[in-house]
Amino acid sequence: MKIKGYEVNLTEKELDDIITNKTRSIEFISRDFEGYQTLPEGDKKAIEHLIKAADIINDVALEQDNPKNIEIKRELEKLAVKDSYAAKTLELFNYLNGVAGHNGIDQEPVQIFKELPLLPGKNFYPQDLSVEEFHSIILQMAKKGKIEELKKILSARTMVRRDGDDLKAIDYTEYFAKEFSEIANELEVAAYYCTEPEFKEFLQWQAQALLQNNKDMDMLADRHWARLQDTKLEFTISRENYEDELTGTVYDNPEIIKVLEENNINVVAKDTLGGRVGIVNGEETEHILVSKKTMPYLAKWMPLNDKYEQRSLDEDNLKQNMVDVDIITLTGDYAMCRGGITTAQNLPNGDKDAVKCGGWRRNVYHRQIRFSRDEENEKILLERLVDPSLHPYVDRSKIIAFVVGHENGHSLGPTTEYQESLGVFKHIIEEHKANMVSIASLAELAKRESFVTREDLRKIYASWIVGNLFLRAQPVISKPHRVADLIEFNYLFENKVIWFDSSKKMHIDFDLIGSVAYRLLEETIKVQLSKSVEVAKDFINRWAVWGEWSRYIAGVQQELGVKPYIKIITKF
Ligand SMILES: [Zn+2]
Repeated sequence: MKIKGYEVNLTEKELDDIITNKTRSIEFISRDFEGYQTLPEGDKKAIEHLIKAADIINDVALEQDNPKNIEIKRELEKLAVKDSYAAKTLELFNYLNGVAGHNGIDQEPVQIFKELPLLPGKNFYPQDLSVEEFHSIILQMAKKGKIEELKKILSARTMVRRDGDDLKAIDYTEYFAKEFSEIANELEVAAYYCTEPEFKEFLQWQAQALLQNNKDMDMLADRHWARLQDTKLEFTISRENYEDELTGTVYDNPEIIKVLEENNINVVAKDTLGGRVGIVNGEETEHILVSKKTMPYLAKWMPLNDKYEQRSLDEDNLKQNMVDVDIITLTGDYAMCRGGITTAQNLPNGDKDAVKCGGWRRNVYHRQIRFSRDEENEKILLERLVDPSLHPYVDRSKIIAFVVGHENGHSLGPTTEYQESLGVFKHIIEEHKANMVSIASLAELAKRESFVTREDLRKIYASWIVGNLFLRAQPVISKPHRVADLIEFNYLFENKVIWFDSSKKMHIDFDLIGSVAYRLLEETIKVQLSKSVEVAKDFINRWAVWGEWSRYIAGVQQELGVKPYIKIITKF
């Protein structure tokens, strides 16, 4: 079957197998949800417009991801009504939210259409632009003195196109003028209806930021967003840059690095937009907030903390909000479930002006994603891979403590300047650092706080190792969270925190794990402090090895039937 001239790469039978056997569903809340029912009418009306805004954000993200996405999706939607093959193709398209993407298991990306591969520069850059040509054009433009244009090309908020022999950058507010103005309209209407003054104000700033080619407006919108703690409604336009794998390659080129330094050019990978709508869960948010008071002393506990300046972490000036949210919808980047889905997010990221200028950050935890699991499969997995004495400790409900520690961990340690200088490896190192802050600090919290008991600690550790470090396949380098998991598995194994007995069952030395994790955290901080791509690369090559036990664990999981695809079910 051909769609808009592109041949579908999978047979109907293969699609059936993916849809029936390899996909798990995550259901978001419906209008019956109590937290929605009890909202004032005005807020309910506001939600309808926020959902519309999030849907338009999805179109923006589709365009950022691949030039053919929207055209193909529309055609599939038309054909799906009468053709089952098209309907199933559309189903897979929606899982990936695009024509191609990694599924977290196969080394090669899933490519729904023969002629439409996953592109490292996505649609941010011209389709036919290779890394080599990209680099040579940058050097050529620098020679011509086109420094201002280069700054735009290497910024987070532009689409880049050819301009004769050179490249030119088009600001998102210009490239997506139509969509951004529609989103802004929806936000203005939502602001009109919503009953919470702070939230209303944020929506108005956010609407303005979409209408003006002005980075400062983004900063102001971000600053208002990050201050939201006590509001019921949740809406976010997420801007994260994991998808763009081309911009960061400039750090592999010493000649370009020189040009960047000489001309003070700041390189940030392109943002893909995501839309999130939800309702803050007050009771659970209280539980998460207790972690806030631990951050000032954890800042002092961090290894090598005399070697770098950390974000302000005084108790009175912590600048970190956190909310647990019941999700209504996730769109755009959030819904590109390519081997996983985000359980929590701490925004704005360090590359954003709002944070660079000392603004607050805000963690949002996704409840429905945290709760989704395949219990039956988990039980068999334990029986196959874990010593029975550990089974009572594996309790997924405890994993929230690890996730909170990870998100707070992003606010500890060397600042963005260090993180960014690691080029294409920065995400792996930073995600891994956040994991290690979490794991090492939990041991410290257990000593100092009543909300983490020794029993809790064991449960968190066992659940983290089984739930996160037992990989289902060798991670690809473009999936930083999974590479980080592999680094940690190997480090724990080499340091005898985990081991396997003669019947191939895993054991954990709970007494050792805190100190080993602290040592690994120290090594990781050193990598960031080095500001060296080479040092980061060596560290990753040393630890992200796909070894015997990882292969065994992945093999068992694949045998049990892994479900790498995710179907998001929105009920509004
Ligand atoms: Zn993270």
